[in-house]
Amino acid sequence: MIKKENLIFTNLYGFNEPSINFAMKRGDWKGTSKILKLSKQEIIDKIKDSGLRGRGGAGFSTGMKWDFMPKGSSRQHYLVINADEGEPGTCKDRDIIRNEPHKLLEGCLISGYAIGATKCYIYIRGEFFNEASILQKAIEDCYNRGFLGKKIFGQNINFDIYLHYGSGAYVCGEETALIESLEGKKGQPRLKPPFPANVGVFGKPTTVNNVETIAVVPTILKRGPNWFNNLGRENNCGSKIFCISGHVNNPCNVEEELGVPLKYLIQKYAGDVIGGWNNLQAIIPGGSSVPLLPKNECENVLMDFDSLKNAGSGLGTGGIIVINKQTDIVKVIARLSEFYKHESCGQCTPCREGTGWLMRVMNRLVNDDCTVEEVEMLEEVTHQIEGHTICALGDAAAWPIQGLLKHFKKDILNRIQKKQVA
Ligand code: SF4
Repeated sequence: MIKKENLIFTNLYGFNEPSINFAMKRGDWKGTSKILKLSKQEIIDKIKDSGLRGRGGAGFSTGMKWDFMPKGSSRQHYLVINADEGEPGTCKDRDIIRNEPHKLLEGCLISGYAIGATKCYIYIRGEFFNEASILQKAIEDCYNRGFLGKKIFGQNINFDIYLHYGSGAYVCGEETALIESLEGKKGQPRLKPPFPANVGVFGKPTTVNNVETIAVVPTILKRGPNWFNNLGRENNCGSKIFCISGHVNNPCNVEEELGVPLKYLIQKYAGDVIGGWNNLQAIIPGGSSVPLLPKNECENVLMDFDSLKNAGSGLGTGGIIVINKQTDIVKVIARLSEFYKHESCGQCTPCREGTGWLMRVMNRLVNDDCTVEEVEMLEEVTHQIEGHTICALGDAAAWPIQGLLKHFKKDILNRIQKKQVA
């Protein structure tokens, strides 16, 4: 369990102002010029040594991602921050921007320097109007203090940050769809390769990182990679913001070490499940895109990339959605199917046609208006979508249903049979 002195986000709940003066009192922008005296490769190596994995869902090594950027190239490099945060059950980046915007901006400067970028776009979800206003003010304050712009800290470093509003498409959280949208086109994912590190924004080398990933970079470099590496578990290092919502007494965001037990998180920070732990039916542990875990799996599972993968789910964004026994679990997953159908960009046939088909069958399943054969077919169709599409939205639509059928198929078939007998 995380010690108070190891918390990175000390103003996560906004008890203090997000302003530059308060941020500097909290330690932001302290020692930044010293970090920028390191070579680009030294910073990349330190981030690699820290074991930081992306906090946006995929969990890929951040240092390795940065290392993919071309070296010694005269082409313009870009850093793009994914602040689109559209994953149901997830609201951590919003709180970082609202209460700790300078952690993000300081992280942008350092990360941009490390990958050779002089320009950064923060692609923020359009609905986050208040947060974007706070961020814009923070950007202006940084320019006024000489933390952004030309000859930063008197060094030969130029760096500009631009805020770009998204228009509300979930799929624009996928990095190549985000790039398309940023370029003013329809937000549709691109086929890879080429990868953004070679052909990204405006055809130039680009790294796209999540808000939380970049916001923790300054603290890692100030406190050292070993400090971060010693938090959490092997290969699952550091702390992470978990968002706990659904049927809990106290929905909240909380920073904890990776590898914290799921049950502990819910009981200690979220005031337990409504109706008590024994009233728990299932939990979706990583935003709506990952398979749910039934109560018995939630007893001992640890909240990190590897433990949740081994349990047949995923850490995703760390958005924990708690479902108690008073809820129709089929209806929950049917609602998610409707969401994915609505958000499919329509480029690939398995996703465009499949998500609609899944939604229609799931909606019938809510009323037990399905045959046993159709339940089998539902499972089969999820496998026909999974892994057969351009982006991960197809998988995201398939996995919640696969999780439901893996753990609740017996109950669903019983329901159908009872209805047939009646
Ligand atoms: Fe679009 Fe779906 Fe294909 Fe992704 S998987 S590119 S959202 S159609």
